[in-house]
Amino acid sequence: MRTQPFISQSTHPELMIQKSAAQWKGLIETYRSYLPVSNATPVVTLLEGNTPLIQVPYISKLVGKGVQVFVKYDGLNPTGSFKDRGMTMAISKAAEAGAKAVICASTGNTSASAAAYARRAGMRAFVMIPDGYVALGKLAQALLYGAEIIAIDGNFDEALRIVRQLSENYPVTLVNSVNPYRLEGQKTAAFEVVDALNKAPDWLCIPVGNAGNITAYWMGFCEYHQQGYCDRLPKMMGFQAAGSAPLVMGKQIHHPETVATAIRIGNPANWEKALAVKDASQGEFNAVTDEEILEAYRILAAEEGIFCEPASAASVAGLLKLKDRVSSGATVVCVLTGNGLKDPDSAIKVSDNAVKSVIPDLATVAELMGF
Ligand SMILES: *Cc1c(COP(=O)(O)O)cnc(C)c1O
Repeated sequence: MRTQPFISQSTHPELMIQKSAAQWKGLIETYRSYLPVSNATPVVTLLEGNTPLIQVPYISKLVGKGVQVFVKYDGLNPTGSFKDRGMTMAISKAAEAGAKAVICASTGNTSASAAAYARRAGMRAFVMIPDGYVALGKLAQALLYGAEIIAIDGNFDEALRIVRQLSENYPVTLVNSVNPYRLEGQKTAAFEVVDALNKAPDWLCIPVGNAGNITAYWMGFCEYHQQGYCDRLPKMMGFQAAGSAPLVMGKQIHHPETVATAIRIGNPANWEKALAVKDASQGEFNAVTDEEILEAYRILAAEEGIFCEPASAASVAGLLKLKDRVSSGATVVCVLTGNGLKDPDSAIKVSDNAVKSVIPDLATVAELMGF
């Protein structure tokens, strides 16, 4: 951490040891000097950020050529997705402006995050979701956090159009990734990657829906590069689901379909920014099929012990698809945007594993185990 705000001030040696792991204070306090906050900003935080960058040896071996692959496991944020990085900023700034209510359109994770942070700040949280296309865990969260949930018979893009108009005409603040504070908060993930690696990776593989996160990561890498904390910038490799790949096709998709519901978006809100990131980083947008996504999802869990949601696995699916084009010895970071517990239905469907039922008898159980 560049500013090292959580290193203990204590000079007592034993306390130093205990406190060198002093509690993380959340990303706004940690990266305050890089963020548009002041002493007048009431920081609304659940201590998001500081998520692990984990080596994935099995996947590295699949890629071969001495390539080192890491995953940035952002599913370990307080509500289980990277959306918390943006939401701590968006809700803190909304609170600073005196907002009493926020609204978002959501494929699920934004609504869970908005609900948690808004309720913590004492605000009403309105969320608009596409009926029938939100993973169970996400809906459960929004309900219990106390969001006011409106399901529409339409897709995400239609929901976003309506909430945009609502926020223009009524006293309610929009917290989708078109809210610029969201991207400011999300860029801290790139800071953490560079802080952990002491350099920027060669490739940053990332699932793309509305393209807010890819834009935010790029902002973060560029800022750290300007500060001299890394001497190069990554190629930004964005991956979309094949049935929902407007940036790959170069046209809006009217009826996007994919198992990866978090990236089921046909008209990305940050379209222009995403193209600019691709060009500036000499990156690419590519599509991965649902089969490829689910295979990466299964490999991550069964071979690496890492449970992410299907949309997140698009980053690893994309890397495996393009593995022949990675340079030997390269460092690759794949962003795992959300936690697997968000979507238990997909896990149960994809797994060919089954629960084995037996009577509670030692010999029977031992036999079943193959002993
Ligand atoms: C929101 C989300 C995405 C897509 O991020 P964008 O910023 O919309 O491109 C990907 N995966 C998960 C799990 C998400 O919640």
